[in-house]
Amino acid sequence: MLDLQKTKEELNTRMILLQERADEMKGSLRSEHSQNFSEQAHEREDDEVIERLEAEANAEIASIKAALVRIEEGNYGACSNCGEDIQEKRLEILPFTSRCIDCAQ
Ligand SMILES: [Zn+2]
Repeated sequence: MLDLQKTKEELNTRMILLQERADEMKGSLRSEHSQNFSEQAHEREDDEVIERLEAEANAEIASIKAALVRIEEGNYGACSNCGEDIQEKRLEILPFTSRCIDCAQ
């Protein structure tokens, strides 16, 4: 049996962590670039990596928010695609997933 209260706490904790990380990444983006061209290229590469990580963190935050809504609505753990129960083992690893293993593939 799934412990929804515990799942909810874990999702909230993870969301706060991701939000902090996303904010940090935003803060580490450079507002000004070097005058030196090769330096500038390096800096832009760094910025792209940071932006990608930030986007990934934001995507996960969105999934977590959706999972929290599903918990509130009482349909957490059901596959959003086929309606079958998502395996508990899968939910332990990916608590914010909305699809069962068959539909995720
Ligand atoms: Zn499914």
